[in-house]
Amino acid sequence: MPNASFHLFQLQKVDGRLLQIEQRFLQIDLELSNNPELVAVQKEMEYENRVLAEKEKAMAELGKNIQAKRIKTQQSESSLYSGKNSNPKELGDLQIEIQSLKKSIAVIEEQQFTLLGEIDALTQNITKLQIDHDQITQKTNTLNRNLLVEKDSLQAEKEKLCKEKTVILSQISEEWLKQYQTLASTKNHIAVALIDENCCSTCGAEITPRDVQKAHTAATLVYCPSCGRILYAG
Ligand SMILES: [Zn+2]
Repeated sequence: MPNASFHLFQLQKVDGRLLQIEQRFLQIDLELSNNPELVAVQKEMEYENRVLAEKEKAMAELGKNIQAKRIKTQQSESSLYSGKNSNPKELGDLQIEIQSLKKSIAVIEEQQFTLLGEIDALTQNITKLQIDHDQITQKTNTLNRNLLVEKDSLQAEKEKLCKEKTVILSQISEEWLKQYQTLASTKNHIAVALIDENCCSTCGAEITPRDVQKAHTAATLVYCPSCGRILYAG
């Protein structure tokens, strides 16, 4: 017949592994739902696309503006050279107007040129970000697949452990289980300490030969005089 703390020690092993599995589940879920690298690239892409849209809108405005000025210039030029108007004051005004229109057209062309350079740079950067985004997504998918495989295998292990736990629990009295649970909850999940060379393997306290002997028997639980854990003689 195994000694009193044998089943409690087995229970502790199973509980310890179950706890590890639960903690790993939390980590995996966190990793699956959180990818700072991908979020950063997505945010940058959104920003760059917004700036690009604004610049393209400005470019369209400039296009409309320059088009209107070119039409006006043509009209003024045909009035000037048609020969229908012989009033020198009006002809002079037309010339001044045409000059001023040509000046504004030159300024707008300059603005278009600058804006076009900016749009080109933005477009190139967005293409580069898109490549980064695709690569990170691919990497993440591979990583996620591995995490999901790990989760499945842990789930299978958990189910096996739960069955084992049911068998172990069926061999432990309610009173001892209560003591185990109280100790586990207050002593960092270690309720049972192995006796190693006549010492408590958890806190290192020396155990008297009498207690070591008692821990080998089936009848009662023996406690470490220092940390209060249930002693298991092995
Ligand atoms: Zn101890």
